Amino acid sequence: MAKKDKKLILSEESCIGCGNCASVCPSNLKQQKDIDFDVDTEARAIAVSNGMAVIDYNLCKACGICVKNCPVNSLTIEIAA
Ligand code: SF4
Ligand code: SF4
Repeated sequence: MAKKDKKLILSEESCIGCGNCASVCPSNLKQQKDIDFDVDTEARAIAVSNGMAVIDYNLCKACGICVKNCPVNSLTIEIAA
């Protein structure tokens, strides 16, 4: 779970569904090392579904690594005041 004061935000208008975010997310990478991991059925912090990134806030730690790897700047980390 993300720290309370940080949240990953997706701009759906600009996402091109490239999957860069999902491939660099450390939470996803850790999960994928599990021999039983099933990419089709298991929730991940960020994944592409129907051509669009989808964030799972139960898994996303708001680390910001995906933000730096999005080619169209669709992702931002929002910090609460
Ligand atoms: S902010 Fe970090 S944990 Fe959340 S989806 Fe992006 S890379 Fe994964
Ligand atoms: S959020 Fe950015 S990196 Fe992730 S699928 Fe969309 S365009 Fe690609």
